[in-house]
Amino acid sequence: MNRNNFLSAISGRNFACDILVIGGGATGLGVAVDAATRGFKTVLLEQSDFAKGTSSRSTKLVHGGVRYLAQGNVRLVVEALRERGRMRRNAPHLVKGMRFIIGNYKWWERPFYSVGLTLYDILAGKMGLGRSLPMSAKKVMKEIPGLKRMGLKGGVVYHDGQFDDARMAVSLAQTAADNGGICLNYMKVTGLEKDINGKITGVKASDLLVDKEYRIKSKVVVNATGVFVDEIRCMDSPETKKMVRPSQGVHLVVDQKFLGGKSALMIPKTSDGRVLFGVPWHNKVVLGTTDTPLENPELEPHALEEEVDFILDQAGQYLAAQPTRADVLSVFAGLRPLAASDAGDNQKTKEISRSHKIYKTKSGLLTITGGKWTTYREMAEEVVNLATRIGALEQKKCVTANLKLHGYAAKVDDSTWDYVYGSDAERIAELIQEDKKNGDLLHQNYTFNVAHVLWAVKEEMAQTVEDVLARRLRALFLDARAAIEMAPEVARIMAKELNYSEEWQQGQVKEFTELAGHYIVH
Ligand SMILES: Cc1cc2nc3c(=O)[nH]c(=O)nc-3n(C[C@H](O)[C@H](O)[C@H](O)COP(=O)(O)OP(=O)(O)OC[C@H]3O[C@@H](n4cnc5c(N)ncnc54)[C@H](O)[C@@H]3O)c2cc1C
Repeated sequence: MNRNNFLSAISGRNFACDILVIGGGATGLGVAVDAATRGFKTVLLEQSDFAKGTSSRSTKLVHGGVRYLAQGNVRLVVEALRERGRMRRNAPHLVKGMRFIIGNYKWWERPFYSVGLTLYDILAGKMGLGRSLPMSAKKVMKEIPGLKRMGLKGGVVYHDGQFDDARMAVSLAQTAADNGGICLNYMKVTGLEKDINGKITGVKASDLLVDKEYRIKSKVVVNATGVFVDEIRCMDSPETKKMVRPSQGVHLVVDQKFLGGKSALMIPKTSDGRVLFGVPWHNKVVLGTTDTPLENPELEPHALEEEVDFILDQAGQYLAAQPTRADVLSVFAGLRPLAASDAGDNQKTKEISRSHKIYKTKSGLLTITGGKWTTYREMAEEVVNLATRIGALEQKKCVTANLKLHGYAAKVDDSTWDYVYGSDAERIAELIQEDKKNGDLLHQNYTFNVAHVLWAVKEEMAQTVEDVLARRLRALFLDARAAIEMAPEVARIMAKELNYSEEWQQGQVKEFTELAGHYIVH
């Protein structure tokens, strides 16, 4: 992945591609991988950094969705369970199996959840990650020592996948690039180009790093901009009806000691009738989430005070040591691009289907929204199948069901941060062999080092301090105060590598510190 090489490729006078994707989140990157691996000339344009939007702000689950089973949405669960298995098989360095424990406090809960979760296992079939089983209160406490013992009658364990969302996005961009695709970050689509018959022939885009305009021709344009799809649809037809209702979900990150083990906690019914998770992630615990309808989508959404209090309150009802505001290491908010249904605006966002929707307009614009990270691959396959028809492209079979993603490594040791790089970890180790100073840590409490920053700049197209600390190293999401402390050193390393001025460094540190302030709970 090299941004300058990608820019020169699209700058050629007669450059034209087969499929152009707008949006570099899970959905767009999935489409780019699918299109590039089928051999189509593919370009993806992202206005900010890859996974800057919703795709770095998920609960980090690769799951069939136990909740959707309870809602009777069997088709969605079967589809997601199949994709869960494929995602784990194709990127074992980023997706791992995890044990989820449901504590039972009423006599009927154990048989009730055991039956439901056995059905979950049956639906997963060969792709299952392990059997669900009832367990005694003593065993539950062994798995989650941080749980409140009082009133606990027993529990049930079931299995799902867990991953690092932003790292998966980087791996998808690299996989697309490995297969000839062009993925550009900081390239905002500002308009759609049409021929005299009103058919879309390409896009106008602006390189936000240098303020330069591009016109890129494409046979098909796919709008995969998450909660922003309506903005692109308005460029196509200004009086278009809104198809997305954004719903905000907030997560808090706290110390691992609050759960105390390696298993995740699943609270099946919060006071507002939702599910709450406590998920171990990079030696911390992610608690969440909420479901707050919003009018206008933002790229950097902020958690509401009441959402923070709600999560602390609900988690505190189950955990022996009740987490407080002072325990929150980071808070992050993400927006679900829920596809608005015909049921109208009165429908509660928690009831809107999580399945995806694809729309095609007369001009040929293909828009995809909704769905989840877990089903990104299948969504992409569907979109590219349609795109080949719209663009009269050669019919070629999708190959992603068994495609090993960039960095694939069958076995990784997840006790250190380096496991997220999979097979690339060796090359990062070489940077330290070349110069011992590259092994210097960025912060005394974390294993992130100089080599990781260099790697992010050289190989992963990180352009800003935020790209490195939020999405290549996840420091901002794990511990916002520590991330602020790391920022000056990261800026210094980047400036040296990219030949940027002292002024650039200072500007970057200031911008990052301001942003990270919103990830701190006071
Ligand atoms: C709180 C929460 C928890 C979730 N948890 C899970 C989970 O545990 N497991 C799971 O499977 N799924 C989960 N999901 C769902 C999953 O995260 C989303 O379905 C997925 O990330 C959506 O990806 P996307 O690519 O459609 O959108 P996004 O990630 O938002 O990507 C859209 C991109 O388009 C870009 N863009 C917008 N306008 C333009 C333009 N004009 N030009 C160029 N680029 C543009 C944006 O910058 C953005 O990066 C969760 C979602 C939320 C909100």
